[in-house]
This record gives sequence, structure tokens and C-alpha cells, in this order.
Amino acid sequence: MFMSFPLTLSHRYLDFPDAFYSQVNPQPLANSRWVTWNGEHAKEFGLPEHPPSGELKHYLFGELISSKHPSLAMKYAGHQFGVYNPELGDGRGLLLGELSDQHGVKHDLHLKGAGLTPYSRMGDGRAVLRSTIREYLGSEAMVGLGIPTTRALGMFASDTVVYREKSEFGAMLLRTTQTHIRFGHFEHFFYQQQHDHLKLLADKCIDWYWPQAKHTNHPYLTLFQHIIDATVEMIASWQAIGFTHGVMNTDNMSILGQTFDYGPYGFMDGYDNNYIPNHSDYQGRYSFKMQPSIAFWNLSALGYALSPLIEHHLIEAELERYQTKLGAIFSSKMRQKLGLTLCLEGDSELFDEMFNLLNQHHTDYTRFMRSLSELDLLGEQPVIDLFVDRAKAREWLTRYQRRCENEINGEGKVITTDTRCHAMRQVNPKYILRNYLAQIAIDKAEQGDYSEIDTLIMLLKKPFDEHPDYNDYTDLPPPWAQDIEISCSS
Ligand code: AMP
Ligand code: MG
Repeated sequence: MFMSFPLTLSHRYLDFPDAFYSQVNPQPLANSRWVTWNGEHAKEFGLPEHPPSGELKHYLFGELISSKHPSLAMKYAGHQFGVYNPELGDGRGLLLGELSDQHGVKHDLHLKGAGLTPYSRMGDGRAVLRSTIREYLGSEAMVGLGIPTTRALGMFASDTVVYREKSEFGAMLLRTTQTHIRFGHFEHFFYQQQHDHLKLLADKCIDWYWPQAKHTNHPYLTLFQHIIDATVEMIASWQAIGFTHGVMNTDNMSILGQTFDYGPYGFMDGYDNNYIPNHSDYQGRYSFKMQPSIAFWNLSALGYALSPLIEHHLIEAELERYQTKLGAIFSSKMRQKLGLTLCLEGDSELFDEMFNLLNQHHTDYTRFMRSLSELDLLGEQPVIDLFVDRAKAREWLTRYQRRCENEINGEGKVITTDTRCHAMRQVNPKYILRNYLAQIAIDKAEQGDYSEIDTLIMLLKKPFDEHPDYNDYTDLPPPWAQDIEISCSS
């Protein structure tokens, strides 16, 4: 017990009726200890820069319970691998409350791996160290790349044994994000035919995240448009960087279009359209190339769930704009990656040929984009060397360089290679969270050595910088990396 609560938290989700959640206390792990604390992020909430101790630590570890600050498991549903599952909800994560940042914006504080809830089904309510590290690294990598994502304040390990394919140790992640509301929240109330709750949920989403929508002709339609736009931005960012989420179920889709619920995700090494990071996704439903159409499928499922609030033809009309919006944002991101500011005839062929070439050769995507960004420093050879068919690579490169000669600046002068490449190095990372790098950090952490996590975070925070002492971290995957199997088991 304690005299004063060690943290300022609001609890606006508690204002919803009981059907929205269950109050559940965290079940602490044995001998919890910090693995890492995100001091920079903590400062945004006025929290200590160093790993908290004392009562704050005990509270964050789920070891202090306060009746004034109840924690809750959210109820939601969702389509998993295309099949509707009404039984979902926070099965191992609890919403502790909301933290306010310096601008007064509220961010959920969520404890993932906090024990059983009414929605745990067959699960044990726990998360293992391995998957907790993967989520922490994945989300911080996204922050460094400027891609919308949930974040984390920190994570801690324990001596509690948790069984997956083998015995592992339990851990928890302190996740932060402006919302934990998923497409599946809307689906739940729609399929339960609780349309008053559906409306209340939509009204709160407008109040909390898009208040200006209230002043439009059709606030619910505006809400749907915002969710589509945020999703489009996220998907375009994933496709441009070569990220595959791995489990794009509707319960893993944030309404704010943030990369959410990191499971068997992967950043591609060799470019491969059919890349499937999740070893249990046998059909490849959630492969890299499928993500744009799966996001559309998920948005359609959301649109259907919103049908008591929005006329059918308006939902359809919004969905029809998806492809065009995605195409425009994706090509603008690719244009930036290639250092092109103008939109000229023949550009889409240039892009298509590049992707075909990369896909045929399974060329390392990050290295390729970075070496194009270093033409000013290192010349053509590093680009050509990435391909077996050098003649084909040279042909494309020549075409690309000719295209670059058409780039004119404000004074009517051709943009120099130096200027272009400098700008390209701000959008094409040198460092990416390769699976094998995460695995090395996990293997060390499982032995109690967390130093590799810190090193990766330092690099991934500034992935566009040179960090000349860390060139090893750009190495291609070693042969053993082929045996890393990532599944939903976490
Ligand atoms: P995920 O595949 O992590 O998106 O989880 C899908 C659903 O299963 C969510 O409702 C989770 O809360 C739940 N879940 C996943 N792992 C566990 C676990 N170990 N114990 C209880 N529930 C879980
Ligand atoms: Mg999930």
C-alpha cells in the first residue's frame, strides 16, 4: 500500500458503459526488473529520464493496486485471417489509464503481458521476453523512420516461467499510443447489434481524435474518411520501407493508422514481393504484396460495421477512393526515395522496372536504396554489385540517371547529384531492424545481457545517420538467420 499515487493518470475509457470493458487488476510477475526504459519518451509525459524506482516502479510493474485508478481490459472482436471472431478482447494487456503529454494530448498507458482477463480464452495472459523485445525494437525503429506507430515507455523481465514452444520467461511492455481503439471495437458492437454503443464509440472517437469532424455535414462519414486516410498513410509507408506486419487482422488495426500489435513482423532484407514473415501464415494472406489489398478489405469490414451510422452509398464512395489515394501517397514516397521532385512521363515504368529487377534478384532493399543515395560519394559500382545480372542493373541505372538530369531547381538549373543524394540520405535509412539483429539482441537478453538492445535503439533512433563505428550493423543476414522462425506465438 502507499500514501500517494505515484503518477498522474486520467481514465476516460471508464466513462463508457460496462459493455466496453472489464475491470481487471494486473497480476505481477516474479522478480520483475527493467530491461529498458525509454527516457526520451518518458520526458514527454514529465516522467523520470532514468528507470523509475520506488512506488512508481512498483505501480508500472503491476505490483500496486489503487481503487482510484482501476485498470481495464477492453472488449473488442475482429476478423482473424478473414474469419469473424466475436470472442476477442484484451486477453493479456490492460489499459492502466491515460498520461498527458506537454501539449495536453492524452496517451493510453497499456501494460502488455499483465495476466489473465475475461478475454484470455485459452491463453495464459502473458507475453514472453522475446516478443516483448521485438515489439519494443519494432516500434522504436518505426519512430526513427517516421512511420506512424504505437510506442513503449519501457519493458521489464522476470523469473516467471511461461510456456510457448519451449519454456521462456515472462515480461511486460508499457505501451503508449493515443488510442487502443481498433477496427474490431466497432465490429463488436455492430455484430452484437448494440447500435447505441456503436454510436457512442464513434462519438467519442470524434471527440477525442478528430473534434473538427463535429462541424462537418456528416461527422461519421468524416470519421470514416480520417480512418481511411490514416490507414493509407501507414500502408504507403510500410510498402515504401519494405515492412510486413504479418498479422493484419482487423483487431490489429488501429483507427489512428498506427502500426499496432507487433507480432511476427519483418523488415525485408532481399526484396521479395511474396515475403511472409509469419511462419504460420501458410497461405500468405498477410504477405508483403497483399498488404494494400488487405488494408482495403479491413477498411471495408469497418465500413460495414459503420453502416448503421453512414448510408451505404457513401461508404462505398469513400472506399472507391482508397486505391487512388494509396497510389498517390506511395508514389510520392517512392519519388522522394529516388530523389525525384517532378512527375514526368515514363516515371511509373521506371519504378516498375526497378521493382521487377529487385524482385527478380532479391536484391537487399535497404542497401539498394542507400547505395542509390550514395552515387555522389561512391559512384555506380556499389549499386551494380548488388545484382547478378549486372548488364540489366546498369541499363536501369543509366535510365534512372538520365531521368535525374531532368530535375530542375527553382532557378531553372539541373539539380546536382550531390544535392539530390544528400536529400535521399534523409529518407533512405542506412540501418534497418533486420531480423537477425533483433535475434542477436534477444539471445543476449535471454542471458541477462541487455546491451545489444541499447545499441540497436541508438542506431534505429537515427537510422539515416552514418554511425561510422557501427558499419557491421548493415551486414546482410548471416546463413544462420535463414533458420529464424517467427510465428504468432508470443
Ligand atoms: P494477437 O495475435 O496478439 O493480436 O492476439 C489475438 C487475441 O488473442 C487478442 O485478443 C489477444 O489479447 C489474445 N492473446 C494473444 N496472446 C494471448 C495470451 N498469451 N493470453 C491471453 N490472450 C492472448
Ligand atoms: Mg492483437
